[in-house]
Amino acid sequence: MNPELPKEYTDRMKGQLLSSFDDYMNCFLMPSYKALRINRRKVLPVDHASVGRLATGSEKLEPVDGIEGAFYYDEGSPGKSALHAAGAFYIQEPSAMLPATLMDIGKTPLKVLDLCAAPGGKTTQIADMMNGLGLLVANEIIPSRAKILSENIERMGVENALVISEDPEKLSERFAGYFDRILVDAPCSGEGMFRKNPEAVSEWSLQNVEMCAKRQDWLLDCAVSMLAPGGKIVYSTCTFSPEEDEECVERFLARHPSFAISSPPVKLYPHTFRGEGHFAASFIETRGTVPLSQKIETKGRFLSLKKLRQRNRPSVSEFAKDFITETDRLAMFGDSLYLVPDMCPDIDGLKVQRAGVKIGTYKKDRLEPDHALSHILRPEDANCHIDLEAGSREAMQYLEGMTISCAPSLKGWCLVCAGGLPMGWGKASGGVVKNHYPKGLRSNAGI
Ligand code: SAM
Repeated sequence: MNPELPKEYTDRMKGQLLSSFDDYMNCFLMPSYKALRINRRKVLPVDHASVGRLATGSEKLEPVDGIEGAFYYDEGSPGKSALHAAGAFYIQEPSAMLPATLMDIGKTPLKVLDLCAAPGGKTTQIADMMNGLGLLVANEIIPSRAKILSENIERMGVENALVISEDPEKLSERFAGYFDRILVDAPCSGEGMFRKNPEAVSEWSLQNVEMCAKRQDWLLDCAVSMLAPGGKIVYSTCTFSPEEDEECVERFLARHPSFAISSPPVKLYPHTFRGEGHFAASFIETRGTVPLSQKIETKGRFLSLKKLRQRNRPSVSEFAKDFITETDRLAMFGDSLYLVPDMCPDIDGLKVQRAGVKIGTYKKDRLEPDHALSHILRPEDANCHIDLEAGSREAMQYLEGMTISCAPSLKGWCLVCAGGLPMGWGKASGGVVKNHYPKGLRSNAGI
């Protein structure tokens, strides 16, 4: 429970925290806090606490201050529940929920960039606030981490996101002055991870703190070049070193005189907040005159339903009622059909892992629904659905890849739900639903 902290680190913290240093050190004798954040786009407010209780099996759920639908839990393995697979919630460290609240999102459709986004805690929180409006670009430089980010975005049913895996410098050449909001949740020396993940301690050194601080300056400069006039940048870390936190803010303001602090920086320590600790600051560009999100140019291979019909392509009505409207933005990439975000920019030449929601793939003369589609539908949108009890053995069996029994009258593509939330597809015939839950996501995958 108490990792061996480097003396150089504890000496610095003693100087930084003064009389509260002992309180900080005592936190290492206690377990770390765990929390989950309900997906407000899928679960009604009246059900937030009951979903939390069902997923954890615990009656003891306490709300996280200031975050609607977020609860501390200390029992259970909610990550293994069917409701998790259905995207009903995201397991997120409680203090990591702070930065998204400073993004000033939710009133008008915005173009938002999450520059260092994997595994996606903050991206999915921002998506929840955007409520399907505007454009959310989630970037992660490491491709394997971008894949995890993409899966989390899919599971949470986010329909307005592009997932990109690019170097921030390349992005800044492409998206000069483009975004209204940018989150820089920077890679850092991770001092706030020491209790939860003692391995982070072995990676700590003063040289690493300095290296991180330089990289943070660079990431913030990339963000500046992608920000629209009048836009906002939120900067955050999960570390306590002044070089990466307060001094980084000072260096930023000195380099960029057109920016001002938009709300006072917040620093959470494990002894001042029931979480592992975080730092967050927000900046506003003060010379802005251009109304936010007015300059939207879109290029690309977009289609309408009409065009799709003209091409004689079978449509989504094969498995879902017409939830796509004439004005929705459809795009073909290869043999696959996508529903792309409303403000989708030109993405040619970028390493794109996800562009909105993949609806399905044309196989000969049929359109096969994609797993991603299942997560943006409501059960009643599908031509056929089956609703299993969230905590049932059958729901778990579906997640393991097994067949499910169903009414003999059900036929064809069937949305398999748990507690009223879709987990994925199956194909019904003769009283059995054949499993189409993706092999890589199955709960026994990798065993
Ligand atoms: N925002 C994430 C969340 O809430 O789930 C956590 C992000 S984590 C603190 C920082 C991320 O930045 C890591 O996924 C890391 O791979 C990525 N990263 C590392 N080096 C980077 C670089 N040079 N440019 C951009 N991102 C980088």
